Amino acid sequence: MRRRAAPRASVPGVTAPADPRATWSLPAPGELPRRADLEPLVTRVLAPNPSGMTLDGTNTYVVGAPGSGQAVVVDPGPDDAAHLAAVEAALADRGARCVGVLVTHHHVDHAEAALPWGAHFSAPVAAGSAAVAGPAGRVLEHGTRLDLAGTTLGVVATPGHCGDHLAFRLESGAVLVGDHVLGRGTSVVTHPEGDVVAYLESLRRVHDLGPSALYCGHGPELTEDPGAVLDYYLAHRAFREQQLLAALGDGARTVAELVATVYAAVPQQLWPAATQSTRATLAKLAAEGRIETSPDDGVRLA
Ligand SMILES: [Zn+2]
Repeated sequence: MRRRAAPRASVPGVTAPADPRATWSLPAPGELPRRADLEPLVTRVLAPNPSGMTLDGTNTYVVGAPGSGQAVVVDPGPDDAAHLAAVEAALADRGARCVGVLVTHHHVDHAEAALPWGAHFSAPVAAGSAAVAGPAGRVLEHGTRLDLAGTTLGVVATPGHCGDHLAFRLESGAVLVGDHVLGRGTSVVTHPEGDVVAYLESLRRVHDLGPSALYCGHGPELTEDPGAVLDYYLAHRAFREQQLLAALGDGARTVAELVATVYAAVPQQLWPAATQSTRATLAKLAAEGRIETSPDDGVRLA
């Protein structure tokens, strides 16, 4: 009887992990409803800023206990008059006034409207960095519980995508995850601000919460098996790392060559973002002593 040889560690044929969402019935790109009541606590309002990076656009969440007459706006998104009108309509239909603006991270597609809308609603702004919260705002820390709008939101530090990234855990068990997890595909670990090791820890942190749903900064809400998506995100990062090591073993010598190899199947308009994730992963591998980099963007196995 022949015994099958054990697969080699880093070979070009490293197989991609299966995305559990492939079998779920999620709205197709471009078909995400502009507004949806996700649960009694939460209404999602889609901003009109679709792009390769923002998918259908930025999801703004209106959160508050029904009957409280109050709500917080999480990730106001772009400072756009039509989007503000849509959020105000959602507030009106909930019979709520905005009593706070929360922001998951400083990227402009989430934070641009924070200060203008905070002023518009006369509501305080809170975020993970002072630059977003503004001079009169509040900088939030991991573990803080915010009693707002008749409910409680738990602040969960989720650095990795970028340094100031926060998630917000709702009383229902759902977690507003910003760009930590996207409704479709995977997120970017930016470089140099992002950090792959922190990102992996943050994925495990949200996994440990046992979320009942993930309400993402972009793309559809993930309700069927949030833990499986977080497992997939962890496996996907390990997969990219294996691919980079395999490509280096096959002769790739620069960051550009690595991106062209590893992201061959991805549209080139996304390669700048892919380059950031690649640089972030290379920084992790270099810190672990597995690769060496040179100032001219050269990379080789250690
Ligand atoms: Zn975003």
